[in-house]
Amino acid sequence: MSSTYKSSLVPSQRVRAKKHLGQHFLRSDEIAQRIVQSLSAPTACVLEIGPGMGVLTQYLMQRSELELCAIEIDTESVEYLHVHYPSLRVVSGDFLRLDLEHLFRSPFSIIGNFPYNISSQILFRLFDHRDRVPELVGMFQKEVAERVTASPGSKVYGILSVLLSAFYDMEYLFTVSEQMFDPPPKVKSAVIRLRRNAVARLDCDEASFVQVVKAGFNQRRKTLRNALRQLGRDFSQVPDSMLSKRAEQLSVAEFVSLTRHLVQT
Ligand code: SAH
Repeated sequence: MSSTYKSSLVPSQRVRAKKHLGQHFLRSDEIAQRIVQSLSAPTACVLEIGPGMGVLTQYLMQRSELELCAIEIDTESVEYLHVHYPSLRVVSGDFLRLDLEHLFRSPFSIIGNFPYNISSQILFRLFDHRDRVPELVGMFQKEVAERVTASPGSKVYGILSVLLSAFYDMEYLFTVSEQMFDPPPKVKSAVIRLRRNAVARLDCDEASFVQVVKAGFNQRRKTLRNALRQLGRDFSQVPDSMLSKRAEQLSVAEFVSLTRHLVQT
């Protein structure tokens, strides 16, 4: 495999991968380029999460229209980036603690071959900052990518699929084999793209919508009548046909309508 894919890094330049930081360095330039090309970048500002040794960064920097910033938690990688990409704006630290409100003066896209150990947190942060982030492109472990982009009725459709598809158009772009990484992870990976849709606000109380979606899926095998009981809301205005379904059968629009029925009463 390794001979088919040219790596931009010679072994002596490599930082030793630290597994607790989810470090699986992409070693295919071709895939790195495809990921960077998938970013339509509706705004100039772009945040890269976990650049590592810059396999994606090098191609992002070639796109001179972009204003790039990278956040990396591993000080050894940060040091490496300073040496090899002196003009790159690198923030040394944890993405989960990064102040996204003040990082750029305008909305920004997110890109990365993400650290898989914080996949859900990255996606929940995206949901929280949806009005500042018009696009996310990047690599997750395949199961996460499938869950996020799943449609109603699918066994893997879940909380993040509903919350994110309320505000983003989702695309599963391509699958990436474990052999494309150093060291190879135990699982396959996949690249997805999320682009903000035109929905500014949902037609229901949004905090309640999040509660309803979470409660519904937390007991996903139960009917909504049973799964939502813990919310202590009045069900009298909710159609029976809805309460007898399970969370995984409801579209975003149906969750919105369910929330309206529950909250009006
Ligand atoms: N983009 C690189 C590295 C991917 S591995 C490549 O494709 O080769 C994931 C990277 O995320 C690692 O460099 C790791 O150090 C970094 N990372 C892990 N947790 C992080 C966090 N909480 N905040 C920022 N970066 C993180």
